[in-house]
Amino acid sequence: MEFFLEASLKGLNKWLRFLGYKTEICEGKITKEEVFKHKDKFFLITSPKTAEILEKAGIKYLLLPRDTLKAQFKMLINKLNLNTELKLNICSICGKELVPVKKEAFKDLIPPKVYQFYDEFNYCPRCKKLYWQGDHIKRLEERLKSLVEK
Ligand SMILES: [Zn+2]
Repeated sequence: MEFFLEASLKGLNKWLRFLGYKTEICEGKITKEEVFKHKDKFFLITSPKTAEILEKAGIKYLLLPRDTLKAQFKMLINKLNLNTELKLNICSICGKELVPVKKEAFKDLIPPKVYQFYDEFNYCPRCKKLYWQGDHIKRLEERLKSLVEK
């Protein structure tokens, strides 16, 4: 299942990618053309008007409240029964699947300390960005916990 998100849901979009879900975000307004182009995806929206269009077209969607990220996140997770484990296998910038790479091949791009302490590196072929599971993972995990808890 791939998600298509309204432009206002950037925060949610990033988190879905952290959890390993494939997503695309609409840069502008969701027009009928956009709806048709992405009709096989699951739409996440906050606009009742867009909901009407999707309903008529028989396309799967979830209408989220115009509320905090936490409120939207919890509703989405509960309604669709999504996993809430950090996967970090998708580029959070562009949504492409990351490719595991050998660090030796990317030595020039990696700070020496990082090179020394980490062995798992992932690469986004679209953004040409290298990811590794550094200290920021702990911060992400804590943030995730605070998003999920009551
Ligand atoms: Zn990318």
